[in-house]
Amino acid sequence: MYTRVFRFAPSPNGYLHLGHAYSALLNYDMAREFGGRLLLRIEDIDTGRCRPEYEAAICEDLHWLGISWTGPVRRQSEHFADYEAAIARLEAARLLYPSFESRSEINALVAERDRHGPWPRDPDGTPLYPGRARKMPPAERERRRRAGETFALRLATDAAVTHAGVLTWPERGSGPQGQTGLVTAAPQRWGDVVLARKELPTSYHLAVVVDDALQGVTDVVRGQDLFWATSIHRLLQALLGLPEPVYHHHRVILDDEGRKLSKATQATSLRELRASGLSASDIRRRLGLGR
Ligand code: GLU
Repeated sequence: MYTRVFRFAPSPNGYLHLGHAYSALLNYDMAREFGGRLLLRIEDIDTGRCRPEYEAAICEDLHWLGISWTGPVRRQSEHFADYEAAIARLEAARLLYPSFESRSEINALVAERDRHGPWPRDPDGTPLYPGRARKMPPAERERRRRAGETFALRLATDAAVTHAGVLTWPERGSGPQGQTGLVTAAPQRWGDVVLARKELPTSYHLAVVVDDALQGVTDVVRGQDLFWATSIHRLLQALLGLPEPVYHHHRVILDDEGRKLSKATQATSLRELRASGLSASDIRRRLGLGR
């Protein structure tokens, strides 16, 4: 029987806040409404910032909210081989190239470009990659990699887009400007994104796409802050021949001053709210998900 599969995919680098609660509850409610399953995925590729105690706290907070999930938890840090395999396929298709600039070299290049008019930024506001590593002669690339230099593996996005053609995704929620229905992906807006690094065989974008496919996720329900990231996700799905989920981007919960919630702010952490005497039903009501 065909079942819809949803997932909640937090990073264990802090305590969950009201924004996570909204996303998790929405996933849980939709999975129940459609007779589907909810999976929990721990996105811990950033092993420097992620901690097991935060993962334990995530599970505890979700249980407190009344959320349960099926199957084992998938921890990304235990599946680097899956991401390496995807990187190897993209490298074999000649769609990746290494760049060797440090962060400060990149900042200096961007400052230089900005002097001649504003250098383009991606949808998150980060300057596009300004370097010329794509044009580096293959022999030099090989020499520098063999010499053990630090590098980032970047997607040659223009070539990838030519390869994949026009891509769209079915949006069941809405984007930041109210986009809904069939949305046309615009991966070029991200420039040559980093998909892996010398010391880390994946990036957020690659791991999400590989895992959604391996876990059979049919419905991606997540915050509007990731709406445009879907352009890159669709591109990677097309390049890797992976199935295409439907997407439901939901509103982002803001604080009283209209700012995005952060894991660093105690006031909206679920632990703090629980300690102040609120119940799970109070949280649901506050989020407009009361039952
Ligand atoms: N791990 C991401 C986050 O905590 C969510 C990834 C996703 O839902 O695609 O923001």
